[in-house]
Amino acid sequence: MIQDDFYDIVIVGAGVAGSILGKQLADRGKRVLMLEAGPGTGLEQGGFQSFVERFLTQELKTPTSPYPHSDNAPIQRPFHEYYEQSGPMNYGSNYMRHAGGTTLHWMGTCLRFLPEDFRLKSLYGHGIDWPITYTDLQPYYQMAEWELGVSANAAEQQSVDRDDQLYATGYDYPMERVPPSYLDDTIRERFEGKSIDIDGRAYPLEVSSTPAARNSIPRANLTDPREAREIVGSYRPVGDPDLPDERGGRCQGNASCIPICPVQAKYSALKTLRTAIERNCGRLDVIIKAVASLIEIDPGSERVVGVRYKKYADPDQPSFTEHVARGRVYVIAAHAIETAKLLLASDAANSSELVGCNLMDHPFVLTWGLMPKPIGSYRGPGSTSGIPLFRDGAFRSESAAFRVEIGNWGVDFPNGTPHTTLMSLVDRKHFNDAFGNHPEGIRQAEHAGDLFGKALRQEMQDVCSRQFRLGFELEQLPDPKNCVTIQSRYKDAIGNYRPVISYRLDDYCKKGIVNARKASDEIFAKLGVTDETDYDRPSGIAAGRFKVDGQWYEYHGAGHAVGTHRMGNSPRDSVVDADQRTWDHPNLFLVGGGNFCTIGTANPTLTIAALAFKAADAITKELA
Ligand SMILES: Cc1cc2nc3c(=O)[nH]c(=O)nc-3n(C[C@H](O)[C@H](O)[C@H](O)COP(=O)(O)OP(=O)(O)OC[C@H]3O[C@@H](n4cnc5c(N)ncnc54)[C@H](O)[C@@H]3O)c2cc1C
Ligand code: SF4
Repeated sequence: MIQDDFYDIVIVGAGVAGSILGKQLADRGKRVLMLEAGPGTGLEQGGFQSFVERFLTQELKTPTSPYPHSDNAPIQRPFHEYYEQSGPMNYGSNYMRHAGGTTLHWMGTCLRFLPEDFRLKSLYGHGIDWPITYTDLQPYYQMAEWELGVSANAAEQQSVDRDDQLYATGYDYPMERVPPSYLDDTIRERFEGKSIDIDGRAYPLEVSSTPAARNSIPRANLTDPREAREIVGSYRPVGDPDLPDERGGRCQGNASCIPICPVQAKYSALKTLRTAIERNCGRLDVIIKAVASLIEIDPGSERVVGVRYKKYADPDQPSFTEHVARGRVYVIAAHAIETAKLLLASDAANSSELVGCNLMDHPFVLTWGLMPKPIGSYRGPGSTSGIPLFRDGAFRSESAAFRVEIGNWGVDFPNGTPHTTLMSLVDRKHFNDAFGNHPEGIRQAEHAGDLFGKALRQEMQDVCSRQFRLGFELEQLPDPKNCVTIQSRYKDAIGNYRPVISYRLDDYCKKGIVNARKASDEIFAKLGVTDETDYDRPSGIAAGRFKVDGQWYEYHGAGHAVGTHRMGNSPRDSVVDADQRTWDHPNLFLVGGGNFCTIGTANPTLTIAALAFKAADAITKELA
């Protein structure tokens, strides 16, 4: 076993949570070691470009396709089962194991939680309350928005219905909102003065821009909340280092945010990590291809005394050397599923027996169809606006809340348009032989098949420019039966555990999904959309399906794993306290979505980032 130097802090995982923590602590003069299971290819500009080229040349374009696979730090990906799914339903999400973590292929949506999301038990009788409130997290949300470079307008996000102030006086996001798409504006116009009826109650329809970690026009003369000092001039967005800021820094509408933004207008944790390395030379060490496999605990003091890791050279060869990293404080930031797995493998932090339990995601439900007129599909970011209406309300006592995402990319995700549209129009018979007689969001047989030349171009233009998709992200309650466990028979190439996942949707969530379908029907009717969703036939790419009252419903994973080592006020019902320190080991902290008590309807990363800033304050005190 090779011993590393002794550090102030050892961090496992260089995703967004680990990178923010590493940067904050190194900036405060601490010596930091980061262990990263995957390669660090994207840290070099040439390496990042190799991801872009790989993506462009891959036939199958999925969220993981730009990033080479490593058998020694494996992930769930098409045609490669990493998880053992023990049922009763399938868990549909994955994550990345590369420096930069899952933000390498995330979408960049950066919503805050609502104040109600922290108090689900007190307000609606479900789940558990968080040990912190929205107000506690508010200053850290500001820091996170500046670190990730979020574009939005605070005034627009402050919903008109709310009496409470969501944003501190004088605060605004570092960049202006990404301009709404033509589709967003069309829907906003059509919704004017209209409402929607759910469970006998009318809700006024509104469209709101979605905050996104994607560079737009920087704001000037605001205070940087991370450093509490006045900035001179504008916020400086970070983009592709090879391009001048004013060009390369901004979103250019390349429309490939998932899985990769070629000009790096979309945030990935590589930006934080690169900055941290550049400005803390000598204080921050990152060891890549270093898979943490065991947390060593002193049985007398219950303090962590080291993290063992396996260092490999070749991602495809199962050979490695064993090392131990030592420091005063340890942080596991390896993603909600991998962190739980490492704790279980080390028999650490689990006196509550809650490690791995309460895994939540946002089951993602899709509906799609054709607009009566062109709406300019397939341009810009995947989504620029949503319908916030169902994020909170009295209905949460009975059924899950949900957020409606308005999709800019036609029907791409559920059925592979526009490629499938083209195939179908050119040769309907062979298309049907290959894919079954699936409508694919295009017109039926009278218009399709055997088209070529001008007729084909016209039909493509007409159909594709009207394709339209809605996405519904459903709240899921913490359920101890939804869990990550380990079993000795399921190991990877270098002998580390693979996750065994047990997952299901409860009735609360299913009722929410039924309401989402009703909402979709009403929205489509108001917009004059022809619904092309094939509800009865399995799409083949969804995580799972279930029936309610004779009707089929299908869900996908959203990539939003949370809850597996939740925070709380007591060691009996939580794994970490409000500082994210484990109850069982005084010098072991956990960061990431695993700390969430409930999931609400906001995509989780901004809250993960805010919590990482909060943990940095607690750890700084610990190290003082
Ligand atoms: C397709 C997709 C789209 C998404 N879109 C959004 C979105 O729009 N908005 C949003 O808020 N969220 C989104 N998410 C979720 C978001 O990406 C995650 O919430 C976030 O990246 C989690 O951050 P993390 O730092 O906790 O974990 P990660 O980013 O997963 O980082 C964990 C790091 O730890 C490393 N690691 C793992 N195991 C070990 C080990 N044993 N030893 C050493 N290192 C280890 C990994 O390699 C990785 O670098 C999306 C996810 C997916 C899959
Ligand atoms: S739309 Fe294009 S330029 Fe903008 S963030 Fe997405 S991939 Fe990057």
